Amino acid sequence: MGDPRWPSLRLDPPMSGASSTASPIPVPAILLGEGLPPFEAITAEQVKAHIPALMEQLQAELSALEQQLELALGSGAPLQWHQVMDPLQRMGERLRWSWGVVSHLNGVCNSPELREAHASQQAAVVQFGNRAGQSQVLYRALQQLQTQANGLDATQQRILAAELRDMQLRGVGLSGEAQEAFNAASQELAELSTRFGNQVLDATNSWTLSLTNPDDVDGLPSSLLDQLAQASRAAGAEGSTAESGPWLLGLDMPRYAPFMKYSRRRDLREQLYKAHVGRASGQGEGSAAELNNWPLIEQILTLRGQQAQRLGYANWAEVSLAAKMADSEAAVELLLEELRLAAHPVAMQELESLRACAARHGAPEAADLRPWDVSYWAEVLRQESFELDSEALRPYFPLPRVLEGLFSLCGRLFDIRIEAADGEAPVWHPDVRFFRVLEGAGAGARAGEAIAAFYLDPYSRPGSKRGGAWMDECLGRGVSPSGQAVLPVAYLICNQSSPVGDTPSLMTFEEVETLFHEFGHGLQHMLTTVERPQVAGINGVEWDAVELPSQFMENFCWEWPVLRHMTAHVDTGEPLPRALFDKMLAAKNFQSGLQTLRQIEFSLVDMRLHTEGEQAQDFMQVLRDVRAEVAVLPSPAWGRTLHTFSHIFAGGYAAGYYSYKWAEVLSADAYAAFEETAGADGEPSIETGRRYRETILEVGGSRPAMESFKAFRGREPKLDALLRHQGMSQ
Ligand code: ZN
Repeated sequence: MGDPRWPSLRLDPPMSGASSTASPIPVPAILLGEGLPPFEAITAEQVKAHIPALMEQLQAELSALEQQLELALGSGAPLQWHQVMDPLQRMGERLRWSWGVVSHLNGVCNSPELREAHASQQAAVVQFGNRAGQSQVLYRALQQLQTQANGLDATQQRILAAELRDMQLRGVGLSGEAQEAFNAASQELAELSTRFGNQVLDATNSWTLSLTNPDDVDGLPSSLLDQLAQASRAAGAEGSTAESGPWLLGLDMPRYAPFMKYSRRRDLREQLYKAHVGRASGQGEGSAAELNNWPLIEQILTLRGQQAQRLGYANWAEVSLAAKMADSEAAVELLLEELRLAAHPVAMQELESLRACAARHGAPEAADLRPWDVSYWAEVLRQESFELDSEALRPYFPLPRVLEGLFSLCGRLFDIRIEAADGEAPVWHPDVRFFRVLEGAGAGARAGEAIAAFYLDPYSRPGSKRGGAWMDECLGRGVSPSGQAVLPVAYLICNQSSPVGDTPSLMTFEEVETLFHEFGHGLQHMLTTVERPQVAGINGVEWDAVELPSQFMENFCWEWPVLRHMTAHVDTGEPLPRALFDKMLAAKNFQSGLQTLRQIEFSLVDMRLHTEGEQAQDFMQVLRDVRAEVAVLPSPAWGRTLHTFSHIFAGGYAAGYYSYKWAEVLSADAYAAFEETAGADGEPSIETGRRYRETILEVGGSRPAMESFKAFRGREPKLDALLRHQGMSQ
């Protein structure tokens, strides 16, 4: 997913200066407020020159709206939807359009100037969101709209309920001292989170170990040796080489993870592991005394507990779940427990096979496997079991062929047609492609009608493009100020390797899955038929259901009838051999039991810390209890993994880490409908595809995710499909 969306009020089409025909002064590109953005015209100078004026205008408009609503509320006359929601929508859309382009460019065409310009305006944007989100007048106006029973439809009711809830969670319902305390605590929480994240980073960077003896790097692959030597040179050892060292070890993932996987030196793995799990604990190898996150954890959890009570909830878990699909902490616990029961025996077997593997190699740890041995023996076992070199798959997955396969699959299933339209829209880089989405033949008279478009920015550009992959909105479905229909347009951003010379980009299988994933988000954005932008596409979809359409699409990459049509060896044109695919299948669920238990452990710790809140006597005890319940390999008592749990203490996942598993259950179960209805040749069913389009993709956030799921599946979600897909069925 992309950036967090515009915080509280998502609003409507643009009324920029562009439409005031009296003005002879050309509107700066960044303030156009409608249409496809002219990216090349939007510069850091424009951001600094014009965003402040936009923010001032929006502030003034918000004040004017508040005054009007004050009068209207005072008059006792009933309020109308268009008096409240339409102006809000317009303001929000103007901000979303302009600031959205800046954020987008900041992610894909970063430069020191643009980064600086973005940072210089961000506070004003956040401040505007906070002001609107805590506006008492707006809140009363929304409440009045909700209560006066004036013929709002279910979608409007849902939009109002969500807006009111979001405002409540921002403390709008509080007054006087309570609100002051709430705001002060929000501010403090934001600062504590930032400090938590910074200290994780500092603690990670504060530990290094220089290896000088070739024995120390026994087993490491050359790519890692290169990295370690480069790190060593960067730290001042100028003559350092991959062949003869010295090699500088560190705790960052690109060095830590492969070392744990490949190093044959058990003593060094133990040393590195201890440093890693001791980070930001202020004690032991991995952490300077001043980098201790413990006091921050205590303050954050205590403050969250107090904030929850100010808002009228028992604890922070309830606050988090107020906006999610899971309706209670008990429902989350139940799902995790069912998963645990299924994963536990599988994980025990996996652990046993690691011990057996170590024993076959005559390793002493066979009798006493410890956490720092797991990655290493898993890698040995994986290589022995599957003989699958993931790099050898690349030549079968040239990007153009993969796209053909993806487009033809979506075309058949969802009755759409996807056509290249390069040159029809301005782009931010020559590698960016532009595509249109049209109604398919099944649409009768509407066949061939344009319904959406998307940009695809496939390649990595180190230095100027953020890592990872995401989908974001460029334009949302709606109506322009001049009354024109606006079609949804998506940004699909990946980071795969660039073409070299005449050779197209050759994708790893993970990159193929990523492309399908983002395309799944994109489909929900593009195929929406919802008229109200607040709940069209991914807007208004509960956080723990938003990954349903994306993870769902990944499943098709594992379907032989689908996959073979999207492979063609770059030199010979041959499709992927079935034998290679069988190897991929065999390796697919390697260690899935242990991985699942790990995710359950994180989810439970997160949920319980935020349920017990300040009542918890000892937060470390919560961690120890969960481990005793879940883990199959005892963790050492000195492990301080809470101290680096940035998802929940520095990110947005507090009492929400479970969402990963929750959405996985939904997407696997939705996909099972396709397995159940596939043709004899394994081809996915077109009828099921149409139903999926209508019940999930088209309706977006306009109704509760559970209703959409039931409309598609005919029942509530079940766990079976996920367990089966991950090889954990009994
Ligand atoms: Zn996603």
